[in-house]
Amino acid sequence: MKNLSDLLAEGVAGRRVLVRADLNVPLDGDKITDDGRVRASVPTIKALADAGARVIVTAHLGRPKGEPDPKFSLAPAAARLGELLGAEVALAGDLVGESAKSVVAALTDGGVVMLENVRFDARETSKVDAEREALAAELATFADVFVSDGFGVVHRKQASVYDVAKKLPAYVGGLVDAELGVLKKLTDDLERPYVVVLGGAKVSDKLGVIANLLTKVDRLLIGGGMAYTFLKAQGHEVGTSLLQEDQLDQVRGFLAEAEKRGVELVLPVDVLVTSEFGKPEHDVVATDAIPADKMGLDIGPQSRELFASKLADARTVFWNGPMGVFEIETYAGGTRAVAEALVKSEAFTVVGGGDSAAAVRALGLPEDGFSHISTGGGASLEFLEGKELPGISVLES
Ligand code: ADP
Ligand code: MG
Repeated sequence: MKNLSDLLAEGVAGRRVLVRADLNVPLDGDKITDDGRVRASVPTIKALADAGARVIVTAHLGRPKGEPDPKFSLAPAAARLGELLGAEVALAGDLVGESAKSVVAALTDGGVVMLENVRFDARETSKVDAEREALAAELATFADVFVSDGFGVVHRKQASVYDVAKKLPAYVGGLVDAELGVLKKLTDDLERPYVVVLGGAKVSDKLGVIANLLTKVDRLLIGGGMAYTFLKAQGHEVGTSLLQEDQLDQVRGFLAEAEKRGVELVLPVDVLVTSEFGKPEHDVVATDAIPADKMGLDIGPQSRELFASKLADARTVFWNGPMGVFEIETYAGGTRAVAEALVKSEAFTVVGGGDSAAAVRALGLPEDGFSHISTGGGASLEFLEGKELPGISVLES
């Protein structure tokens, strides 16, 4: 795989470089509420621009329905990138149309422009190879080389991630390179005890990784919305908490597998429950006494202590998924407790997941308190699952 240093060594002055970045930031209206992904994209783009390249950035935002939708314009990301670079980043009004063509044509050496949301074109995510390839071919006309730097999307077989890499000389960007380096440390020569903390909303998204992790970890801590499916599988009632009935059998299998392998599987012992989603009034109850009409929205104080104690002697930690509905201050305590335990820890600590990373920053924890905060949730989980990442394998071939 050729990387950014190889490209810079070849020389990029005057060359047009298409960079796939991940600028999928959370927005409140047109305000970016967490600019982590924009900041993480800067070093590669800046290195190219400083070396005299003509940089064309392509990225997606949210899940528009394959057609232009002003709600999902990349305008806020282009503005923020411009601020961070200290130079204006012109945003084309479309992806591969007249506006994009003229913006690219006007590029000068060292300049950076951005194409509008790549998911405004239905071909980006099409399952039909020929459709994606057609879009990739149009994108490729804009550039001489391609740099893949959107770590959050390398697990996607999409036109701007996968197909375009076949149409141009392709390089792995600095961010993707760094992310892969860190994740390799979690799969190769890791120091034990290795503790993984999983949370968040959906068990089904994370089943594959749990199956794989059970063969690698010493301890698995489960909180967040997914804990209730585990508690139910253990025979507890979970009231109106998030529950994935259809996953219960598989989760029972995980409980048995953990026992067989001697993996310590740690579940919350108490939770904060309330009657209506988001309502701040709450009670703390033991997990074997969740009332039928209440839902759990955060792990309780005893669980926070328990989780912190299970993290105290870890030498390697991977954390994905908040422990509760951290967006609401009342239910942010569990997530804060885990984050603080990691900051205190001397272990190699990796945070993966869009919401987990945003939570760390929203709670005001120092980013340098962690060994690495990944920009990609799905991508890092699929890597740990041992799956092939199409956006990476295409660069290797
Ligand atoms: P990540 O993006 O870090 O991988 P997920 O997307 O899986 O994390 O999950 C994040 C979401 O999970 C957050 O929006 C949070 O509010 C929600 N969540 C956490 N705990 C609960 C819970 N007990 N009930 C409902 N939602 C929860
Ligand atoms: Mg998420």
